[in-house]
Amino acid sequence: MVKRDYYEILGVSRNATQDEIKKAYRQMALKYHPDRNPGNKEAEEKFKEAAEAYEVLSDPEKRQRYDQFGHDGLRGTNYRDFTNVEDIFSAFSDIFSGGFGGSIFDEVFGTGQRRRRSTTQGQPGSDLRVQLPLTLEEIAKGVEKKIKVKRQKKCDACGGSGAKSSAGRTTCPQCGGTGEIRQVSRSMFGQFVNITTCSMCEGEGKIIKEPCSVCRGEGRVHGEATIKVNVPAGVQDGNYIPLRGQGNAGRRGGPAGDLIVVIQEVPHDYFKRNGDDIIYDLWISFPTAVLGGEVEIPTLNGKAKLVIDPGTPAGRMLRMRERGIPHLNGYGRGDQLVRVNIWVPTKLNAREKELLRELARGEHINPTEEEQRNSNRSFFDKMKDVFS
Ligand SMILES: [Zn+2]
Ligand SMILES: [Zn+2]
Repeated sequence: MVKRDYYEILGVSRNATQDEIKKAYRQMALKYHPDRNPGNKEAEEKFKEAAEAYEVLSDPEKRQRYDQFGHDGLRGTNYRDFTNVEDIFSAFSDIFSGGFGGSIFDEVFGTGQRRRRSTTQGQPGSDLRVQLPLTLEEIAKGVEKKIKVKRQKKCDACGGSGAKSSAGRTTCPQCGGTGEIRQVSRSMFGQFVNITTCSMCEGEGKIIKEPCSVCRGEGRVHGEATIKVNVPAGVQDGNYIPLRGQGNAGRRGGPAGDLIVVIQEVPHDYFKRNGDDIIYDLWISFPTAVLGGEVEIPTLNGKAKLVIDPGTPAGRMLRMRERGIPHLNGYGRGDQLVRVNIWVPTKLNAREKELLRELARGEHINPTEEEQRNSNRSFFDKMKDVFS
């Protein structure tokens, strides 16, 4: 695929300032964010495309190379290819955290947004990611799954506080409970205030006199949990379901992280998925192709009968309406497409061979010159799409 111009993707001029680029990217990310466009592949592609453009144009060095040499100039540089939406969130966390004055992002974006640290609570727990393999049959019906995860859970002995007794926490003497250390320095340019997290209480504002012996003051311990996930019908490989607060427990009573369940589609033995359609390769005998008949074929929900018309050639696609995968967040479902192939037997007994030899001498078995020409023409007509 030909890559689009990065300036064009973000809709900015070639001499846009860093601020303009950042602003343009935020708008794009907001518009095409997966949480706003669930299941929309096109929006996801646009979202990734914008991230890639921003990744390059927000870096002065990469931008200069791109201005001079185009896409080729970026080869060999430390250049990220965003195939995964989660990578985008972690790469540009400053944008997705609402860090620069943007409250819209806080409202709209669940994923990628990180809870702000507060001095009254401990550090938030980290997110967990688990892969959830699903068969096409499960995807077609929707399924409830139980997943076992190893995660940090709140310490029961201290209720998550990390202190041995409720009176065991006291205001941090180093920062006086603010969790921050302010350092004022003077220079020829004026006065600077440097704010750092207090090292004694790690920003919590309180210290523990006597730590809980079970969790050693952490407020959390290793554990295991079985979690139910409801997967809607129609998901596809790479879709993810965020479960809020089901990740690792926070430190000393901090909020828990999220559990991100990533859908993994297990390849099917004989079905191929194409969007929400299912493709199936059917092999029929030469007599059935000529005389027609009824065959039984598998579908995602049991077997179904399919009528083969007399004179069905190899390569014909038959469509079984509404036998595919349900559209995610929408009505209706895809189709099952059946590609007809003619089975050429290799193991024949003497009687079968004799019958075929006799048949081969039949008047209508071999194509006439005209039939040969017409069939060629239709082949090239079909191939027009492929070669043009
Ligand atoms: Zn404890
Ligand atoms: Zn402190």
